[in-house]
Amino acid sequence: MATELLFRGDAYLKSASAHVLASGERGVELDRTVFYPLGGGQAGDAGVLLRAGGERVTVSDTRKGESAERVLHVLAPGSPALEPGEPVTLEIDWERRYRLMRLHTALHLMSCVITAPVTGGNIVPEKARLDFDIDLSQLSAEHIERETNALIASAIATETVWITDAELDAQPDLVKTMSVQPPRGAGRVRLLKIPGIDLQPCGGTHVANIAEIGAIRVLRIRSEGKHNKRVEIALAS
Ligand SMILES: [Zn+2]
Repeated sequence: MATELLFRGDAYLKSASAHVLASGERGVELDRTVFYPLGGGQAGDAGVLLRAGGERVTVSDTRKGESAERVLHVLAPGSPALEPGEPVTLEIDWERRYRLMRLHTALHLMSCVITAPVTGGNIVPEKARLDFDIDLSQLSAEHIERETNALIASAIATETVWITDAELDAQPDLVKTMSVQPPRGAGRVRLLKIPGIDLQPCGGTHVANIAEIGAIRVLRIRSEGKHNKRVEIALAS
């Protein structure tokens, strides 16, 4: 019972029509979705499912199901039970998702400004962070902000590239984030390419052109342990 992941092909899809496959305590599964499930540090989408009669059912979160190809749309408490086979129109909270896309893509750029292994990361609509295995004294907020914003200003179009698991295994240095396994499935791995800047496995949603990020500011830098120096950023506007 796999769900077609429409956001993989087009991160800018805000709505779609779908049918309910199953509905349970943990959430609703659909035959296709534009809702990104929590993963790779990126928060799951929120939004609504519109029933044929016009009733709006709130999706408060989206999570992966028992496999990467299964998506659970988590409904707000008190939501009605949806019927298997029922048609629904999906609408994501686009303003929220677009912030996630801009912040997520900004983290790719920041991982090129700070040349150290990435030990963790997280993206929520208000802010995003990466943890690095680096000495705290080597992290300057002013430098990170200036260099990341200079990359953003280069206004480069991003690309999605697929390679085989074997090709990835032959290039282990592509994997910067030690805490997150690259998204694999059916022998293929999805990469985000920012030509001339970055290439790394990533299953998240990204902006089409890095200029869309606008600019970032560093909120704070602090130590979260010997191998975790955390850099937290927000969108400047
Ligand atoms: Zn990414």
